[in-house]
Amino acid sequence: MASVFLSKVSTPLDYKKVKEALKKAIEKLGGIEKFIKKGERVLLKPNFVSPRPPPVTTDLRVIRAVASLVKEAGGIPIIGESSSAMTHWWREGMTTRDVMDLLGVFNLAKELNIEAVALEEKGWEITEIPDAVVMKKAELSKLALEVDKIIPIPILKTSMEGGGITCSMKVLHALVKPGTDRVRWHRSDLWQKLIDLMKVFREKIPFCVVDGIKGMEGDGPIHGNPVDMNVIIVGDDPVATDAIAAKSMGFEYPLYEVGPISLAHSQGLGMGDPNKIRIVGASLDEVKKRFKMASCEIIAPHFENVVVYEGAADRSCLAWIKFTLYMLKDTDLFDELKRRNKKLLFFVGLNPPLPEDLNELRKLCEQGIVIVFGDCATFSTRNSYWLFTQGDLKGKVLLMPGCPPFATAQQATQIREALGLEITEREKEAFKYVPT
Ligand code: SF4
Repeated sequence: MASVFLSKVSTPLDYKKVKEALKKAIEKLGGIEKFIKKGERVLLKPNFVSPRPPPVTTDLRVIRAVASLVKEAGGIPIIGESSSAMTHWWREGMTTRDVMDLLGVFNLAKELNIEAVALEEKGWEITEIPDAVVMKKAELSKLALEVDKIIPIPILKTSMEGGGITCSMKVLHALVKPGTDRVRWHRSDLWQKLIDLMKVFREKIPFCVVDGIKGMEGDGPIHGNPVDMNVIIVGDDPVATDAIAAKSMGFEYPLYEVGPISLAHSQGLGMGDPNKIRIVGASLDEVKKRFKMASCEIIAPHFENVVVYEGAADRSCLAWIKFTLYMLKDTDLFDELKRRNKKLLFFVGLNPPLPEDLNELRKLCEQGIVIVFGDCATFSTRNSYWLFTQGDLKGKVLLMPGCPPFATAQQATQIREALGLEITEREKEAFKYVPT
């Protein structure tokens, strides 16, 4: 039976308490020697999605505690990450090495006398996944394929894209090469892709450690708000760990509410039914908080003067509209829209309700900037392409192709330019981030 240990950590928190909480959990699950053998190379896979502190990224104290335990068992821990492709090309313009450096990961590794690596620097290997449903072949991290064990160390977060949460299974997405296979299958098929990936690495995962010191609710993985949880969740089955983590955030029926858990359970990769998981340590009632869920909807009070007109769209395009809007929130754009009484009018999905009549379309453009967002919408409005790019609607109708359109920094800049707003040097720089 899959077991998950909920270890409460008392405040004020320090490293000693984190280590004790983790040790207690591992002991109750059978002891570290059950999971790690002498001489085994163990990849510690945290969440360093972006150069921001917890709860966007995993608390280094948790990583330190896991590394120490692995070392005590005679294993060789290696901290490895490949930050979001978005962080590199479409947001901060930072490589994984930059992100890890900024977060202090290399200093930590030096102190512990262990290796910390940006997975890109160790290369990728084309791997066939015979029982995959969508990702039948992909370039996967060479290091992850070589090591004996992999310990996911995610943070307790809700997510706009990960099927409601991002946890032990989602954190492994970084083992896929960014720029190519990481951005491929990144629509509704992302959940199944994560499960296909699990088919490669499931056997290497002895246990997962979820950093629930500070969780994140709302529009994770980046734009949510912190929630004090003070819990470390350790489970010997990644699917069960994620199911209990989801329950601790207020998902009553994770098997039905969290897509990747449901898929992993039904494809035999672990136990997603909380009723069939042994919960040890603290009870769920002691730990549980009702998180605000992530949402792909554009909620008017958060993004004034934005209207989204949907054709047949999936949530990915909606999420990436929201990522673009979050980028613009750091600028004066929304104040300017209000001041000028203008709107951003997004048209998304197959056959969005964009007026075919030219006069009506011109009238619509008087309301603000019309944005044709994503490949589906671009394809559906292809007959007007000349009008949008060369004709009298040039600069009034913006095309943002992609499936979904990932280039948030460039998209945000395109919108600001169309409104005649000042473009900073940093924004100009954003156009240089092109995947290779
Ligand atoms: S372009 Fe179409 S298929 Fe691709 S993410 Fe957007 S709505 Fe989905």
